[in-house]
Amino acid sequence: MLRLCFSRYLAAMLCCTALLGTNVAYAEQVVVYSARIEQLIKPMFDAFTQDTGIAVKFVTDNEGALLARLKAEGKNTPADMLITVDAGNLWEAAREGLLRPVESKTLDANIPAHLRDPQKQWFGLSVRARTMVYNTQKVKPAELSSYDDLAEPKWKGRLCLRSSKKVYNQSLVAMMIAEHGEAKTEQIVKGWVANFATDPLSDDTRAMEFVAAGKCDVTLVNTYYYGRLLTKNPVLPLAIFWPNQAGSGVHINVSGAGITKGAKNEQAAIKLLEFLSSEKAQNLFADINMEYPANPRIKPDPVVAAWGNFKQNPMNVATAGELQAAAVKLMDRAGYR
Ligand code: FE
Repeated sequence: MLRLCFSRYLAAMLCCTALLGTNVAYAEQVVVYSARIEQLIKPMFDAFTQDTGIAVKFVTDNEGALLARLKAEGKNTPADMLITVDAGNLWEAAREGLLRPVESKTLDANIPAHLRDPQKQWFGLSVRARTMVYNTQKVKPAELSSYDDLAEPKWKGRLCLRSSKKVYNQSLVAMMIAEHGEAKTEQIVKGWVANFATDPLSDDTRAMEFVAAGKCDVTLVNTYYYGRLLTKNPVLPLAIFWPNQAGSGVHINVSGAGITKGAKNEQAAIKLLEFLSSEKAQNLFADINMEYPANPRIKPDPVVAAWGNFKQNPMNVATAGELQAAAVKLMDRAGYR
């Protein structure tokens, strides 16, 4: 009898230990869908797992594919977190009902209000500045001033821009609409188009290559592309200029993350999100792509810091999403392809 009880007890113990083991392994993990590539995210996930014992599984793809997948999977999605670039994309994910609000004092303290969703469905984790890059042999920095100024006739045949199809330019124009209104913004964009030296280019790097080759004098790019290009070829006659310093500040955007509506591991996912905003992860998150930490208490990488301090536009980056459709229509009307 006693032996029977004991063996039952042992079986129960084994059974529960086994179950507990499964539960722990299941509960203590976070599944991430990421539009940032593996080399940009894995170092932080490894640091998080080392700190907390929580595993991070991830899938990387482009943002369109990930949003489509989240939509198709609905509440059955295995993903707990979405990481993507551009507030326009994060805003779209929230609008599609794919994210859930997160209440966290840590996130509120680490991420400035203009870099997160007012409804708390996503949080910026790194800042990218969309600024001017000019040919140092053809332009004196004193000639440069603001995004609007690039519409002036003195820049005729001197401006190169990336295609308006890229969300980065849509976000820039969306935030200009918020600042100036549609009519004035349309005038500015028409002015840009009138000043184009070439048809719009496929990407930021190509636009800088055109500037370096003297095919145009100035362009607008995200600074990390400048960092990458200059690392490869330090002698290019290119320099950064920070526009709108006497006015609204440099146009910025974010890469960021939110917790999915269908998250099965919500608490662990919130822990990961908080970790990504922390001192320990912020440099890993920003430096590896030559971006700026979103947490203002963290200093950027020395290479990035050497580009100088600048005033950021304090407008909430959610504006990029809210006015994206208007920006796309406006650029089309202005003949910016
Ligand atoms: Fe980019």
